[in-house]
Amino acid sequence: MSRFDTILVVDWSARAVPSPAAPSPDSVWIGCVEAQGMTSAYHRTRGEAEAALHERVDALVAADRRSLLCLDFAFGYPAPFAQRLTGHAHAFAVWDWLEAQIVDGPDNANNRYEVADAMNAQFPGQGPFWGHPQGRTYAHLTMRDARSGHGVADEKRLTERLADGHPQSPFKLAGAGAVGGQTLTGLPMLARLRRRYEARLGVWPFEDHALDRQIVLAEVWPSLLAVTPGEGEVRDDIQVRALAAALDRMQQEGSLDAAFAAAHGDALHEEGWILGVGVEEALRAAAHGSVHPRLGNDCFALPPGVDWTPVDEALARLRGSLSCVTGAEAVPIAAAEGRVLVAAARADRANPPAANAAVDGYGFASGATGEGPQSLPLVEGRAAAGQPSPGSVPEGRAVRILTGAILPEGVDTVILQEDAAVEDGQVTFNGPVRPGANTRKAGEDVAAGVTLLPPGHVLRPPDLALLAATGIARVEVRRRLRVGVLSTGDELAEPGVAAEPELTYDANRPMLLALMRRWGHEAVDLGHARDDRGGLRQRLDRAAEGVDAILTSGGASAGDEDHVSALLREAGSLDLWRIAVKPGRPLALGLWRGVPVFGLPGNPVAAFVCTLIFARPSLGVLAGATWSEPQGFEVPAAFEKRKKPGRREYLRARLREGRAEIFASEGSGRISGLSWADGLVELGDGAAQVRPGDSVRFLPYGSFGL
Ligand code: AMP
Ligand code: MG
Repeated sequence: MSRFDTILVVDWSARAVPSPAAPSPDSVWIGCVEAQGMTSAYHRTRGEAEAALHERVDALVAADRRSLLCLDFAFGYPAPFAQRLTGHAHAFAVWDWLEAQIVDGPDNANNRYEVADAMNAQFPGQGPFWGHPQGRTYAHLTMRDARSGHGVADEKRLTERLADGHPQSPFKLAGAGAVGGQTLTGLPMLARLRRRYEARLGVWPFEDHALDRQIVLAEVWPSLLAVTPGEGEVRDDIQVRALAAALDRMQQEGSLDAAFAAAHGDALHEEGWILGVGVEEALRAAAHGSVHPRLGNDCFALPPGVDWTPVDEALARLRGSLSCVTGAEAVPIAAAEGRVLVAAARADRANPPAANAAVDGYGFASGATGEGPQSLPLVEGRAAAGQPSPGSVPEGRAVRILTGAILPEGVDTVILQEDAAVEDGQVTFNGPVRPGANTRKAGEDVAAGVTLLPPGHVLRPPDLALLAATGIARVEVRRRLRVGVLSTGDELAEPGVAAEPELTYDANRPMLLALMRRWGHEAVDLGHARDDRGGLRQRLDRAAEGVDAILTSGGASAGDEDHVSALLREAGSLDLWRIAVKPGRPLALGLWRGVPVFGLPGNPVAAFVCTLIFARPSLGVLAGATWSEPQGFEVPAAFEKRKKPGRREYLRARLREGRAEIFASEGSGRISGLSWADGLVELGDGAAQVRPGDSVRFLPYGSFGL
């Protein structure tokens, strides 16, 4: 079997009216993965979706491309249904039978219940189909499950019985999760596809050489994958993308053949098989790494005619056009540091869950005390943290209580042990004591159910304490963004090997890889590519299959040896950003096979600064985090500098005695200055004349997460 160029996954729908204009669930969604990237489309009616599919497949055929077309309804019914209904033990007979019976209007109005009623009439007893909307009556179709004596022993096909997750029977037409209606409205469409594409189309697993055809139809069940839509995302949309991406990844990894080979059973020609059943683990593993990017090809577009883009405008554009491309997974909080929350975290219980003592001392009801010397008899026992309460304390008496112990019934106030004396079973102290003194109220820190942390928050160690304190053991986080780091240039050598003086040791790669890890991404070392366009193209192709974003350094300008920008231009997606920033040459931004590429300058100082300022917040958004801005502060300058207008400048700087020193040389080849510094001084876009003692903005490395 040769590979599929395009994988389409269709989420079909049995809706009887057009879906809302705004993309919504329970409508037809078509996800697509191919070399150009991933897309999905929303259709308001089945008619519109079918026309779009025809158009799409026609174009693929014309371009001589192979496609796998997956649909999410049953391609067959449990045996021997086809035989009993049509006289042929083959699903295609049912498809054709239904195509002749089902009337499905351009407005989605259809006669599926009438057709099911008619089918039931052909079976003895009470026929196999069941379920219809309230308020209607049919001669042979019941609302509740009343099937009997019809001769189709199993309600589900073998593949449904074996599937991990219990898909429903195609005989069930209504109620939660029912797939029967989609099947009745979907099979006629399959019959038409067969007629339209004839020998070019094969239907797996019904036809022997289906997988050798140019177009392959297969049944899928998207719920084999557990997807977590992010804020504002439609589950159906994410499901079709995730499934298409997972199948594509299986194809790349060579495990798709095993998925096709998993179909088995005596009644395969009648029942068919759900692609993925039998290899659920592999499918989920592939989906685990799947992306659902919504990056448009124009995501890095700058307005035409702009010459030098100010830093703030460049950042605003990146912020507005990028979006999360990673899926989700649940992890225990112990492993959640640095991860990005998918949904808001809410407190499972209040902190503290019950009122308790804030100090070691004696507890009592404040109502029974007053001014001047007080003496209260102590009750038996004591209240200690982690112990059940010793019982209620009568008014006018006191109890020994330790920090963290729940206030026993009758206690609302605690006197610090240092402020009290105990003698002969009596505690004595001087009043008045403020009611509620030295106690903590239930929920005074966090009330149960409140939002603790917003979606997109990157979890830090104190956040883990907050989650744990409120009873949260696991959190749903974004899968780590995989960022590939590639160095380019004929002049580069690996540190550790003896190199001629004309060679430069590759300083960027270890720095960029470490930055990626610091920021919680999965750093993927893509090595070093020479200044050779073909070789670089191959590397980018290979990289794009395994990573979510690519950082390159070197070759990003517009010169003869600037192959990164040349290739992105060739791919039609180059945007050479001439940003008014120093240090920094043009940034080459673009999509390579749907994967965003940040082409950084080769110069290590410029590469570092551009990564901190531009790549860091951008990668954060791709990873599902909210846009991050470094928090700087004003400090007096310990230096003197005159700056021309037009470019924002970042100077390697460090704080000494509360003043910002800058590195002696501004030469952008001076890597030692990066290491000497603790941060950057940011000088605004305009002209500046900085004198010692003047206030300047300092951005510590820490404000960039370093
Ligand atoms: P380029 O952007 O390719 O024109 O490179 C600009 C300068 O940065 C040249 O002097 C390169 O040798 C240098 N350079 C490029 N990549 C690296 C790297 N990975 N490590 C150190 N220097 C580099
Ligand atoms: Mg170069």
